[in-house]
Amino acid sequence: MAGKKRWREIHDLLFTQYGTCSCPLKHRTPFQLMAAVMLSAQCRDDRVNLVTERLFAEAPDAERMSRLPLPHLEELIHSCGLYKNKAANLSAAAKMIAEEFHGELPQTMEELIRLPGIGRKSANVLLGNCFEIPGFPVDTHVTRLLNRIGVVESRDPVAIEKENNAKVPAELWTNFSHLLIQHGRKVCHAGKPVCTECVLNGICAKRGVK
Ligand code: SF4
Repeated sequence: MAGKKRWREIHDLLFTQYGTCSCPLKHRTPFQLMAAVMLSAQCRDDRVNLVTERLFAEAPDAERMSRLPLPHLEELIHSCGLYKNKAANLSAAAKMIAEEFHGELPQTMEELIRLPGIGRKSANVLLGNCFEIPGFPVDTHVTRLLNRIGVVESRDPVAIEKENNAKVPAELWTNFSHLLIQHGRKVCHAGKPVCTECVLNGICAKRGVK
């Protein structure tokens, strides 16, 4: 397994290229980011931002979201795909937040993953981006990159998160995940990585893979 020095090298090379990244999902409150994260499953961020502009105008907080009739909520988020599941989860999560958490998004992993539609990855996004509580969200980009670079040999998000957390300082986790996702979208594509233009070219085990 790779040591801390190699992990830090990966972080630093990506940071040189992309710097400090902000969450691309538009939101004004932690609750709104939770809703946007739910809608972003298998949907582009720019599409989510279009949909949430109208959604948050009608229902900016958990209490008002919980009162939207389900068919209307489905209509509002329809273009994000998987809209029936997403609407059901969003409505149920809004209700739970309104009733159990006084309308405020909870700030612990244990509470967040009790919300319908929120798994460990989404909870880490919320902890890091809303509350500055270190979290390392592991999505398909993070999994693909870290396997290709050669610092993990696993598709298990929990195992990858654990390995990162043991090797990278906590204050870097949230942005490191953003950096890997950016690089996965722009350079290390799932189908055809552009290794000749990759800042990690010199240290990647799989440079040149097709
Ligand atoms: S060298 Fe190629 S495979 Fe490795 S991280 Fe860069 S783009 Fe991905």
